[in-house]
Amino acid sequence: MSDTETKPSSNFIRHIIDADISSNKHNGAVVTRFPPEPNGYLHIGHAKSICLNFGLAEDYKGRCNLRFDDTNPEKEDMEYIDSIKKDVSWLGFEWNDEPKFSSDYFQQLYDYAVELIKLGKAYVCSLSPEEAREYRGSLTEAGKDSPYREQSVEENLDLFERMKAGEFDEGAKVLRAKIDMASANINMRDPIIYRIRKVEHHQTGNAWCIYPMYDYTHCLSDAIEGITHSLCTLEFEDHRPLYDWVLDQLQTPCHPQQIEFARLNLNYTITSKRKLKLLVDDKHVTGWDDPRMPTISGLRRRGYTAASIREFSERIGVTKVDGVVDMGTLEFCIREDLESSAPRAMCVINPLKVTIESWADDQVEELSAPCHPKDESMGRRSIKMTKVIYIDRSDFEEVPPPKYKRLTVDKEVRLRNSYVIKCNKVIKNDAGEVIELICSHDVDTLGKKPEGRKVKGVIHWVSQAYSVPAEVRIYDRLFSAENPDAAAKQHDDENSHFLDFLNPDSLQVMPDARAEMSLATSQAGDSYQFEREGYFTTDADSSADKLVFNRTVSLRDSWVKVGK
Ligand code: ATP
Ligand code: MG
Repeated sequence: MSDTETKPSSNFIRHIIDADISSNKHNGAVVTRFPPEPNGYLHIGHAKSICLNFGLAEDYKGRCNLRFDDTNPEKEDMEYIDSIKKDVSWLGFEWNDEPKFSSDYFQQLYDYAVELIKLGKAYVCSLSPEEAREYRGSLTEAGKDSPYREQSVEENLDLFERMKAGEFDEGAKVLRAKIDMASANINMRDPIIYRIRKVEHHQTGNAWCIYPMYDYTHCLSDAIEGITHSLCTLEFEDHRPLYDWVLDQLQTPCHPQQIEFARLNLNYTITSKRKLKLLVDDKHVTGWDDPRMPTISGLRRRGYTAASIREFSERIGVTKVDGVVDMGTLEFCIREDLESSAPRAMCVINPLKVTIESWADDQVEELSAPCHPKDESMGRRSIKMTKVIYIDRSDFEEVPPPKYKRLTVDKEVRLRNSYVIKCNKVIKNDAGEVIELICSHDVDTLGKKPEGRKVKGVIHWVSQAYSVPAEVRIYDRLFSAENPDAAAKQHDDENSHFLDFLNPDSLQVMPDARAEMSLATSQAGDSYQFEREGYFTTDADSSADKLVFNRTVSLRDSWVKVGK
């Protein structure tokens, strides 16, 4: 991590770990894990969990495992496994040893289940899913014992083995923990710990047709790996009694401590793999790495750096209270990083032709500009000035508002890193649109102020002959509602959906931009500050004929809330 990043601040999890180290609770060790289910690409919420788990392991000189929680083979895919590894590495973290899979422990988990049956703590239940739902009760009503609850250990062992052997259909039988059907906590009402799924698994192939449930798998996988502090989001608080119950019944290598923290919610977007997958599947975005997506791969393609995401995670902190973080906080972090690290360049996004009549037809003058105004070590770049140049349409007004500092008729403006020019004439097409400006330049203004007058405005430009074509993609919020889920819920219409709040203007393509020559060799992932425009990154869609740039973020936080 670079020196400029915020030093880790203390939080309640660190206090717990400090106390555990003092009391030698886990022999002084700190072992964490990041346990994604490989059913989608990781998003910014996962980045918080990654930074927390790997960050704590780094700080306490412990270790952090990457474990794929792969108990739902239907929804999982190797593509997701590969993308998750890539994203964790890209964020700058190294997992301990090889990546782990819950499926590595399927045999051990099965043996533990047999053990539970022998202890009289688990039974095979043959209620249909509908019946089981009825027996479960509700928040206000206790559940009822299943008629299969008192089956003998021998019968349970026999049925469980036959479940494993594939003798029963999906849904016909499940293995349940025998806890308490009257518990106020529904998670403790004899939860299912194994179910039948006759599907191939991406790691274990057809070796298994019964798969363990998440709650049962998670605590045991943690114990098998010697995890000391098992960090998860607040919605698992009600599952902690089950986590502890399973570990209390069995002789496991250790008993990790589950600690819950608030998940990250970011406004104007969603952080749920399931919903993000819907955006991808229904083609509302171009893919998981669409630069509008809050996925780590989308942010990377948008031009976010790993350092900026780590900084963001540190800034938002770790608490026990759910809240919503403003997208502006994430943007602040990337702006701050790129302000010092991104070289400057000029790119005219919406070009207007300017002919300098005082300039000789074939005259080419080589000018030099710093790559960073405050950092000489970044060097200088060469810019060529010619008779025909482009400026941005938004930098010219025929009828300027008061105090206008850019170009207008009969007024002067400075071309950044070049001369002062004056607009003498406006050329329009038949439709009355401005298509060209005829200007003249003051030869005595290169690198110095003009004689006897002040020229306040500075605009960017590129030479027509010495620039390259580019497409610029400007992104806005993906959703027009601050909380798309809440907005969807307020509608009576049952079909109303978070998708209804997609921002139709989240992508604006500017196909005719022109970029200065120094950008011609830029590679996908390179970041720049386009002077006066914002921070941009070269997209992998760039070709030999046309560069493609993504706007990472504007120069300032000029974003106004939709509807204001
Ligand atoms: P999703 O609903 O997006 O699928 P998940 O919690 O089901 O999220 P997992 O793959 O199970 O996704 O999550 C891996 C880890 O990341 C878990 O420990 C989980 O608690 C954590 N995590 C997921 N989303 C967030 C979030 N928004 N903020 C912080 N941590 C998160
Ligand atoms: Mg999950």
